[in-house]
Amino acid sequence: MGDPPRLSLRRLAGAAAAQYGLTVEELPVEGIPQTRQEALEADRLDPLASYRDEFVVSPAGPIYLDGNSLGRRPRATAAAVARLLDEWGRDLVGGWDRWADLPLTVGDRIGQLIGAAPGQVVVSDSTTVNLYKLAMAAVDAKADRTVIVGDAEDFPTVRYVLEGIAAERGRRLRLVATDPVEGIAASPSPANATEDFFEAIAGRSDHADGDIALVCLSAVNYRSGAVVDLASVTDAAHRAGALVLCDLSHAAGAIPVDLDGSGVDLAVGCSYKYLNGGPGAPAWAYVRAGLQASLRQPVWGWWGQRDQFAMGAGYDPVPNIARFLAGTPDVLGTVAVDCGTAPLLAAGMPALWAKTRRLVALLARRTEQLLVPLGARAASPSDPGRRGGHLAVSHPDAYNAARLLIERGLVVPDFRAPDVLRLAPVALYTGFVDVWDATEHVASVLADPAVHLAVPRKRVT
Ligand SMILES: *Cc1c(COP(=O)(O)O)cnc(C)c1O
Repeated sequence: MGDPPRLSLRRLAGAAAAQYGLTVEELPVEGIPQTRQEALEADRLDPLASYRDEFVVSPAGPIYLDGNSLGRRPRATAAAVARLLDEWGRDLVGGWDRWADLPLTVGDRIGQLIGAAPGQVVVSDSTTVNLYKLAMAAVDAKADRTVIVGDAEDFPTVRYVLEGIAAERGRRLRLVATDPVEGIAASPSPANATEDFFEAIAGRSDHADGDIALVCLSAVNYRSGAVVDLASVTDAAHRAGALVLCDLSHAAGAIPVDLDGSGVDLAVGCSYKYLNGGPGAPAWAYVRAGLQASLRQPVWGWWGQRDQFAMGAGYDPVPNIARFLAGTPDVLGTVAVDCGTAPLLAAGMPALWAKTRRLVALLARRTEQLLVPLGARAASPSDPGRRGGHLAVSHPDAYNAARLLIERGLVVPDFRAPDVLRLAPVALYTGFVDVWDATEHVASVLADPAVHLAVPRKRVT
């Protein structure tokens, strides 16, 4: 088939959308392809299909389902970094007149993806370091409170940073045993000994009411992809008198987030996953406008200083988001983050989210049909409204399955201990037929006796 059907169908979709006062991209989730032919058709009709060409994609390469670990490289990044190198060569130190504001201007652009008005996001450091800076600032602001509440199922660096702060400041870290699949919305299940996160915040658990300084959690669980209702958690935490710090590493650029609207106090996230900033790209930090002047971060660096080049005697930080900077920013990295974020801003989160939901729903259905009969189990929430940008599939041989898929050049998934294969179709560059074929490949390795062989594990999975 050629192009004309596409045009008429798009026009039809446009008319339908206009009827509801929506753009085409905001139309509710459409049907999920039932056959490979329909998957190809869905790709042909996909209004985001052209974004794939903005990324470096080798046609013969494996199907990449690991954009939630390291996003693909935008084509524009090479030229933008080369331009920066030219500026450096030409302008030398004079370039700082332009470069100095990049952490703030690129931060504002990331803010557009996560519902943050300008002046509240800054690009800096790594996610881990930003977690430390903001969690410490929050704990110090609540000096009379002794408890930090976190999620026992959270990404390791979040738990470790909180553990370190509790030790350093003499607080108690209470990690709530949440459901590894259903996440924080799950009601407590005596069968698997999970606890209710909201009960823990409300102080109806084992610690004194009114004593929580900080509630810190991820908006999308790194393993299961379970999504947290940030407004509800924030509401509960604020009623308990605590501040809320949210890690959006698996949420920013993947799902719609409304930081200002949900009342979250502090947030951090990385830029090399869905924001396509490249390996080790600088991370970002969000501090709600009303808190910026009063919170004090633990790294008293000169980039947060008022009248920085006066080289004053004592630390006197600016009263805005720049006070959460520490030292000289990574300009090359920040330029790459800007390139990685640009296609997300151009496509818009509503369109991206509409496609992501369909891709993940297709993945979930193919998992039920092809992989469950081979001993796999979906380890993400079954409610599509509670799933983020990836699907977790657990299988006793998940490690070997990932290894075989990569070795055979079929699919790049990733493995998360103890038994989870994460599959992330990224709306900007993954097609419906990619999901269709990838699940076929996963089934082929799970059915292969080689998947049971014991092999030494690689350092990075
Ligand atoms: C990926 C990820 C990080 C990464 O932290 P780095 O400091 O970049 O290593 C942090 N938190 C969460 C929830 C993540 O998923």
